Amino acid sequence: MQEHGYDVIVLGTGAAGLTAALRAAAGGARVGLFEKADTVGGTSAWSGGTVWLPNNRHEAELGFSDSREEVLTYLMSLSHGLMEQPLVEAYVDTAPEVAAWLEDNSPVEFETLRGMSDYHPEHPGGKQEGRSLECTLFPFADLGDWADRVTVGWQINGEITMSESSLGRKAPGGVPREELDRRKLRDERGAGQALVGRLLKGCLDRGVVPQVGCRGVRLLAGGRATGVGGVTGGGRVTGVGIEGPDGPFEASARGGVVLATGGFEHDERLVRAFLRGPLARAVSVPTNTGDGLRMAMRVGADLADMREAWWVATIDVDVAGWGRVPWQVNTERTRPHTIMVNDDGVRFTNEAANYNALGNAFHVVDVPRFAYVNHPAWLVFDQHYLSRYGLAGHRPPAPTPDWIIEAPAIAELAGRIGVPVLALQATVERWNGNVAAGSDPDFRRGDSHHDRAWGDPAFGGTHQGTLGPVDSPPYYAVRVRCGTLGTKGGPRTDTQGRVLDVDGDVIEGLYAAGNAMGSVMGMTYGGHGGTLGPGLVFGYLSGRHAATLAVTSQPVRKP
Ligand SMILES: Cc1cc2nc3c(=O)[nH]c(=O)nc-3n(C[C@H](O)[C@H](O)[C@H](O)COP(=O)(O)OP(=O)(O)OC[C@H]3O[C@@H](n4cnc5c(N)ncnc54)[C@H](O)[C@@H]3O)c2cc1C
Repeated sequence: MQEHGYDVIVLGTGAAGLTAALRAAAGGARVGLFEKADTVGGTSAWSGGTVWLPNNRHEAELGFSDSREEVLTYLMSLSHGLMEQPLVEAYVDTAPEVAAWLEDNSPVEFETLRGMSDYHPEHPGGKQEGRSLECTLFPFADLGDWADRVTVGWQINGEITMSESSLGRKAPGGVPREELDRRKLRDERGAGQALVGRLLKGCLDRGVVPQVGCRGVRLLAGGRATGVGGVTGGGRVTGVGIEGPDGPFEASARGGVVLATGGFEHDERLVRAFLRGPLARAVSVPTNTGDGLRMAMRVGADLADMREAWWVATIDVDVAGWGRVPWQVNTERTRPHTIMVNDDGVRFTNEAANYNALGNAFHVVDVPRFAYVNHPAWLVFDQHYLSRYGLAGHRPPAPTPDWIIEAPAIAELAGRIGVPVLALQATVERWNGNVAAGSDPDFRRGDSHHDRAWGDPAFGGTHQGTLGPVDSPPYYAVRVRCGTLGTKGGPRTDTQGRVLDVDGDVIEGLYAAGNAMGSVMGMTYGGHGGTLGPGLVFGYLSGRHAATLAVTSQPVRKP
């Protein structure tokens, strides 16, 4: 059996794991970075790569005001009793430091995601711009041999990775063709590819080389596995049992093991056991099966935020080479000429609300019927919508694909999707009347700055950017299901990312970060980048803490 000795072991190479590894290496630790998949980057590499790091220094540079108190007020106003104030404070206090530290100590380069508000900007302390950052384009040639070993999603016209453009957020609408061609030629990538590419480069520069195809399976105590499950019920975590391409081996860690293995959304049993309502689709990498959660549970970890996920509405679409895949519908819901209805043929929420909040509408139970009445739902739109915006890579005059249901009139559409004809006709009529009057008194779509920011930018941030009649035939419908970007629940931690046991005591040597950790955010999504922001912060905190322990072998003082 191979033996590996490290100061710090990190499991998982998403943004949380890469940040933990980078910070630990910068702290002088010898880092073992292990990844279950054959490529590096996890869901983070598929993502938009935006990070919500409030009170960051770029806000001041652009003249936006922000403060610790405002961020705290904002977040705690969204808690509904689920957020732990000390963890929230640790996040808020460390977020600006993480943004600055990464820029000063690694190839990470951020710029402000302009025009993007917090997801509840009207809440006290909410902001209309500044807290969301994204990485500048990153030339993948800088990764050398690693350029081909970063996880990529599906591509349409060579431009789209998942539902985000790998050529940078402003593509393809606002960037001239020649500039897009130049980016392709130089393999300059934006979004999650830039974030992962830059973090990975930072790790490689510091001698941290990811070992792929290596799945952490159990935690070790005293350098040895105790029984099938590893450590049971306490004791210092000193390493990990790993299944690698050449067989199993054990790796030891003097400072600690950081679980950054993503969520448990691809494990049906865990989903059923913990989540608060239906989850039909997960748009994360399939390797996120709750391995970190199971490892932590075996050693007696307390759990937090288990009922929650980063909810998102999804439709099923066909992508060449991938088959039928779940596609998250975000701007697709917020643009004009589209509404969502349930199987009763009625609207049930503000379609332009932020995707995470929308999950609550899918989880409503009608008590007399004892049924999830809004799930699954339908996205209903007209020809005007399809011609102007297209849908998930489809655009007329290409023939309507079979995952979109088409009908010449609303009554026929209702028949085809099996909702009551009169109800759907009445819903569309009422919607069109409200649109003509300029507002949505039923669900206040467009009243929040958020809705207008996610609308069609051609309407300059007005209600018309999201309100538009559904009145130009033919009409279309697509099934919408509750999905997730990843679950939020996992081992409960302290403010340094150290995992706590069921008695509230620290399990020495065990850390968690990213979606593997019991989230600091409760049921909330603070703003664009609201999942990756906390992932970076707690990756940073745990990497630093574990490295300090290993290097000094002294107890670390709390900040
Ligand atoms: C299309 C899309 C766009 C998104 N855009 C954004 C955005 O702009 N901003 C934002 O904040 N969020 C966004 N998200 C959500 C975000 O991508 C995830 O919440 C985030 O990437 C989670 O990061 P992570 O590091 O915790 O997990 P991941 O990035 O999923 O990484 C976990 C890694 O751990 C590995 N792993 C699992 N088990 C083991 C094991 N036993 N041993 C070793 N390795 C293991 C996995 O293979 C994986 O590589 C988006 C998601 C999608 C799908």
